[in-house]
Amino acid sequence: MLKSELTALLAPRRDNDVVIDVDGVRVPLVGVTYCNVGDQIVLSMDPAELDGAMRAAVLPHCRRCGCTEGAACPGGCAWASDEQQVAAGLDPMLGDVCTACVPQPVGAGS
Ligand SMILES: [Zn+2]
Ligand SMILES: [Zn+2]
Repeated sequence: MLKSELTALLAPRRDNDVVIDVDGVRVPLVGVTYCNVGDQIVLSMDPAELDGAMRAAVLPHCRRCGCTEGAACPGGCAWASDEQQVAAGLDPMLGDVCTACVPQPVGAGS
């Protein structure tokens, strides 16, 4: 994004916090600085916060409810197969979805 666009976007929102989004996990910035050399806006992040966010982001999680291998839905769930996702009208390419979040196809099975 061009700096002018960013500046224009942020101009009316000077009081808003700027956060980094790592695959849905938000990481607060510890600083925003302007670097004359190279004309860059430099965003500073806390390494520990980033590390935590990266771990959460790379951990397989349901894209609908956010459950993981270690923290399943109440009652239990499993990863829905690509076929199950497609049958429910979801796009498997968007990520994992657990069986608790896949609408059961009408009239299927049994
Ligand atoms: Zn889910
Ligand atoms: Zn689940």
